[in-house]
Amino acid sequence: MPFIQLQKVGKIYVSDNNISVGIRGIDLSFEKGEFVAVTGESGSGKSTLLNVISGMDTYEEGELLIEGEPTSHFVQSDWEEYRKNYISFIFQDYNIVDSFTVLENVELALMHVRDHAERRRRAVELLDRVGMKPFLKKRGSKLSGGQKQRTVIARALAKDSPVILADEPTGNLDSKTSAEILDLLKEVSNGKLVIVVTHDFGQIEPYATRHIRIHDGAVEYDVQASAAAEPVPETAPQVRKTEEEGQTAWSRLGRTLQDSMRLGWVRFKAKPKLSFFLCLLMIVAAIGVFAVTSFSASSLSAFDPVPFFTHQEGRVILTKPDGSVITKEEYEALAKRPGVLSGLRFDTLLDRPLGWYVRGRSLDLHYTTTPPRKPDTGRLPEKDNEIALFLPLYAKGAEECPGIGDTFDLLNGDTAPYTVVGLGFDPDNTKPACVCMTGRGFEILSCLEVLPYSLNVTLTTSGDSVTQNCSVGLLWSDGQFWMKKIKDAESASVKLEMTVRIESLQTGRKTDPASFETVSVERTLTCAPAVPGRAVGYGETLYVDPQCVLDLGHAAMDISYRQTSLFYANDREAEKAARSFRSEGYHALASTETRANDDILSLSVFGAIGLFLLWLFTVAFLTLFISLATTRAIMSTQGDLSILRSMGIPVPVIRTSVFIQTLLPLIPAYLSVLLFACFAFLFPPTNAQFTYLRPWAYLVIAAALILISVMIARRYIRKLFGQSVKKALKGENRS
Ligand code: ADP
Ligand code: MG
Repeated sequence: MPFIQLQKVGKIYVSDNNISVGIRGIDLSFEKGEFVAVTGESGSGKSTLLNVISGMDTYEEGELLIEGEPTSHFVQSDWEEYRKNYISFIFQDYNIVDSFTVLENVELALMHVRDHAERRRRAVELLDRVGMKPFLKKRGSKLSGGQKQRTVIARALAKDSPVILADEPTGNLDSKTSAEILDLLKEVSNGKLVIVVTHDFGQIEPYATRHIRIHDGAVEYDVQASAAAEPVPETAPQVRKTEEEGQTAWSRLGRTLQDSMRLGWVRFKAKPKLSFFLCLLMIVAAIGVFAVTSFSASSLSAFDPVPFFTHQEGRVILTKPDGSVITKEEYEALAKRPGVLSGLRFDTLLDRPLGWYVRGRSLDLHYTTTPPRKPDTGRLPEKDNEIALFLPLYAKGAEECPGIGDTFDLLNGDTAPYTVVGLGFDPDNTKPACVCMTGRGFEILSCLEVLPYSLNVTLTTSGDSVTQNCSVGLLWSDGQFWMKKIKDAESASVKLEMTVRIESLQTGRKTDPASFETVSVERTLTCAPAVPGRAVGYGETLYVDPQCVLDLGHAAMDISYRQTSLFYANDREAEKAARSFRSEGYHALASTETRANDDILSLSVFGAIGLFLLWLFTVAFLTLFISLATTRAIMSTQGDLSILRSMGIPVPVIRTSVFIQTLLPLIPAYLSVLLFACFAFLFPPTNAQFTYLRPWAYLVIAAALILISVMIARRYIRKLFGQSVKKALKGENRS
């Protein structure tokens, strides 16, 4: 049984409107140990013959038998398997991967050797054998023709395939180098079938055991040549056992992955400019994705349940069963219930945050008596007029932001001057900002807040009496008042009158029409010396001491305010307590149980969907942009890939290696995202621009980046594999 046998094989090329005969009616058989020289004029079909034998070209007529097995039914993957196990190819124009080093070119063919050190050792040994040891680290593109062919021969040896096909291997070499290469081929050929196409038989004659001449696609003659054929011991059919056989699917997959990673890494290193360019583009993409994610992130809160009341951990909002006012005594009894940590009888301020603009960003400042943490600088408030501010980092150093010791007005009216004693800044700019004050400080502010803008005020000084409407402000000085108009007076009897609107007592049912009642406080206060920097010029504002404000506010709320807040250890406790209050007939809600109405929700959900689409659009755009930007660079590696394929490196390995190659730039890209995030959130001006991202958002960014590079890799692969091996090898589609 011949090793390789061609029976009446014919190959016809059909191109556009032209049919040409490659070979026709070829009857040949080859044995191992032969060194066959094939000659013939240009265009006679020599290359076609080799291509058919190697399975790089299909044939239309006859049958090619390999160790007796017909091949006409072979599909692409059969041919690849065949090439992998049988064929080493040497071309006139050197099928070496230009961007790889000599060592890498040979190591590729040793992929089946698992141990790295062993693979390296064998590659070096083979290269030593072809005299290439001094050039291990040299890139393919930097080699001379002879050096390239030597490397290719070392690679053919590494593969240890039984057939070496060489298509004019010395065609581009000078005669001295040609002789050396042929010498080398002969030397390494023992036991193998070597078929060399040449146009210079004289040169090859000393080595050839057989001479076939092709003319016009057919065999003209086929004669014994001078050299003696190597005796080859009869062996079992040479289907080399692939190492994969007898292995589990998992270890095969693992091996493919391992090989792909190696090849991917080699490819990544081999094209430093392309890799650098890809890294750069990926970094740009990564930061772009980060920016849109941060931009869209705030909108995602639309999907969160929106509390109608300001959420405060452990808060329960309470009204009595009949909706009537909760008296001081009733409140105190409620506040003594088990589990209650603290309470705010008049809790109105909790749900009325102070709107504030800092660095052009709107900020809701929530009033609270429970500090979220310790301030970074300063301390927590101890006196009633002291506050600590807990703000997003972007407020730091902002013009609008007060410093320690500064006065900060908590009512937007220059009437509630509190002194900042503590400041805390958080890079997480999604956390609610708050102003923390003492219980009494909070109460004073609540009372001041319920006073109408203008009050009926009567001032009586030594007999004289003035009655007018004016607004009321806080003077942190017990027993004193101040007003521009009467700054000379020593003391005055101050009477403040306020009309309170009493609404329907029955919550939810408006049976009674609103009615009005008047409350008032009257005290004798001494006139404060002018308060530097304040109040001067505000002629229509009467500044009174906190007690005055408390008295009037309490008087008003005692007859009209029907809600209170109690605080428990946490939201779960609060929900439990709220349930138990409800079972007693109270209207009670933990602040986690209150939700904004659906209209608001659905509106913001629309916005969120819009932003999500914007996000998707950005990712798609970046994908397109990067793949267009890299197409040319990527296509320049097309020849390399075909060489890898012709060497029989499994297609899945090549494919996966392309993924690895495009995924590798994600490492610097992702690191730059993290770096950029640190920068963005730790510097106040940028902190104001980007919405702080939660850990899940970084997973989303990673997923988007992976998506982008997978899309690019897919496009890359589609282009690369979109043509036959031979076409690409011949360079027909290069450039
Ligand atoms: P050689 O290698 O002996 O110079 P080839 O085998 O390359 O000759 O070519 C044999 C014939 O087949 C020539 O007539 C050539 O024009 C034709 N041929 C080879 N390759 C192709 C192809 N890809 N498409 C069309 N015709 C081809
Ligand atoms: Mg040719």
